[in-house]
Amino acid sequence: MTTASHDAVVIGAGPNGLVAANHLVDAGWSVLLLEAQPEVGGAVRSAEDVHPGFVHDTFSAFYPLAAASDTIASFRLEDHGLRWTHAPAVLGHPFPDGRWALLHHDREVTAGLMEEGHPGDGDAWLELCTVWDRIGDQLIGALLTPFPPIRHGLAALGRLRSVGGLDFVKLLLTPAVEVGTTRFAGREPRILVAGNAGHADIPLTAPGSGLMGVLMTMLGQTVGFPVPVGGAGRLTQALAARFLAAGGEVRCDTEVTRIEVDRGRAAAVVTSGGERFAVRHAVLADVGVTRLYGGLVDAADLPARTLRSMRSFQLDPGTVKVDWALDGAVPWASRPAYAPGTFHVADSVDDMAEALGQVAAGAIPARPFMLAGQMSTTDPTRSPAGTESMWAYTHVPHHVVRDAGHGGIRGEWDESDCERFADRMQDRIERLAPGFGSRIVARRVLGPRQLEARDANLVGGAINGGSSQLNQELVFRPVPGLGRAETPVKGLYLASASAHPGGGVHGAPGMNAARAARAHRRLASVTRPLRAVRSGS
Ligand SMILES: Cc1cc2nc3c(=O)[nH]c(=O)nc-3n(C[C@H](O)[C@H](O)[C@H](O)COP(=O)(O)OP(=O)(O)OC[C@H]3O[C@@H](n4cnc5c(N)ncnc54)[C@H](O)[C@@H]3O)c2cc1C
Repeated sequence: MTTASHDAVVIGAGPNGLVAANHLVDAGWSVLLLEAQPEVGGAVRSAEDVHPGFVHDTFSAFYPLAAASDTIASFRLEDHGLRWTHAPAVLGHPFPDGRWALLHHDREVTAGLMEEGHPGDGDAWLELCTVWDRIGDQLIGALLTPFPPIRHGLAALGRLRSVGGLDFVKLLLTPAVEVGTTRFAGREPRILVAGNAGHADIPLTAPGSGLMGVLMTMLGQTVGFPVPVGGAGRLTQALAARFLAAGGEVRCDTEVTRIEVDRGRAAAVVTSGGERFAVRHAVLADVGVTRLYGGLVDAADLPARTLRSMRSFQLDPGTVKVDWALDGAVPWASRPAYAPGTFHVADSVDDMAEALGQVAAGAIPARPFMLAGQMSTTDPTRSPAGTESMWAYTHVPHHVVRDAGHGGIRGEWDESDCERFADRMQDRIERLAPGFGSRIVARRVLGPRQLEARDANLVGGAINGGSSQLNQELVFRPVPGLGRAETPVKGLYLASASAHPGGGVHGAPGMNAARAARAHRRLASVTRPLRAVRSGS
């Protein structure tokens, strides 16, 4: 059955699909947003589904990139119910000896804590902050706009001398471990930079990891790691509310199974229920690229070079996430001076590097490096007073060759694998917070398969739409080309985290795709009459 044609169909209501849909509806386009799951939000959703009275974010939780994103700011989501809040401290890292590395909102406080750890580190921290003040906004602008980032790139170049010229470029290209050891003497700043680099799948000793570590730490120091009051889902609900108020149309429980291509141009999408939605101008796919080029578009409609390039496309690693409802605060062996929202778990930078190395080598890590969140500490509305809604996640290989922890976890990620690996993760927290286990009233484990079942873009639990290593960034994302949202099919745009600049909730792939669709439309409205004049029709 074919329904009335729309100017654009957006497939997938993750943050990127919602951003694309909002931009197009603002431009006066008629836009239909189709979402496979029962609700919008993609990997930005929350629910009271772990324990009554406790809101848990199903996937992502902290949003520094959204806070720094001009795109998200431009939508004025506060007018649609969104409110942000922050934890007392942005980020913490507990060491096994009871000390903490802490990133406080106030850089002077952060620097003071670092100075206590090692004299001189406080000044080194403030120096890095000053450099970031001069150039950070242009770097973020350059990262979050289409490649090549002419405006922000030129502006950043103009400021380069004031931040040390090529020495600064070298800093950004330096691996995270070295950024830590060359700039700081104490373990606190070193582990904060390394832990933040660990948000991407770039080895801590490889170029690119330093940029990630500096970017995330400096974002923490400038905009913080905010969360939406009431749950992550409030962010995407606000985007959806804005889209609907502007006249957009959303259909949930509607999986797109095929994109019809007519004479090289995207013409319609077909759903699992057999409905066909025709499009006048564009299809924007907030879909993982392995699915887009692996079935949604028929291989016969794609050039051989795209299919060839896709053979070397690399996913980022899989993920296991554990959510806990606790009947009290986390019983830290030694309480931090300021309670952090996000915290990282690794005994040292070496311990972190070892875990990441094991994952890269196909082994289930013996002592997983974990990213974790104390959500009620950050936003007290998440659970009853005095309790904690908490999570931790870590990465695992897609193709498991062994269990480095000798626990016989096979990598099937059935209930047995998931629960045993969750025990391993929990043990790490128990060592830092004795009695943690006795505070648990409910636990939920989402392994790679369970994550993908809740959001098809999380292929095998990959959270970033593809590896963030340098050989798959910029013009290499998702396949070698121009690093832009356009695909080999006219009128079809890749709007998901598989496109430049990749994962994280900043809306850039969605905005880039929507802008590209509009630009092509404008071009077509100029060239079509010209062609008609030339052909005398
Ligand atoms: C466990 C986890 C933790 C994370 N933590 C953070 C964090 O703290 N901060 C941060 O900034 N980022 C975080 N991320 C990453 C971030 O959530 C993603 O990069 C971001 O959600 C990507 O947005 P997207 O719109 O590209 O895709 P998604 O959010 O994955 O949304 C894609 C949507 O498309 C739908 N869809 C897919 N295929 C179809 C189809 N064929 N038909 C119809 N609908 C379809 C899916 O159901 C889904 O709703 C995390 C991710 C995960 C999984």
